[in-house]
Amino acid sequence: MSERDAMVCRACGREERASEGYPCQECGTFICNMCELKGVIRCAACAAKGPPREGDPAPASAPAPAR
Ligand SMILES: [Zn+2]
Ligand SMILES: [Zn+2]
Repeated sequence: MSERDAMVCRACGREERASEGYPCQECGTFICNMCELKGVIRCAACAAKGPPREGDPAPASAPAPAR
């Protein structure tokens, strides 16, 4: 078992501890704590798409089929 707990932040590109990061507001990919302190709540890809739409349901939160 490895104790490695690093993920690449999709906002700044640095490798940071996954346990200290948080998911992108739109796609849920990893963003490091350093970026959060800077006010970054979305990854570079989502930020490039433009501002988030309020009231729009997240596409990643589709419910699983019941059967
Ligand atoms: Zn970052
Ligand atoms: Zn994203």
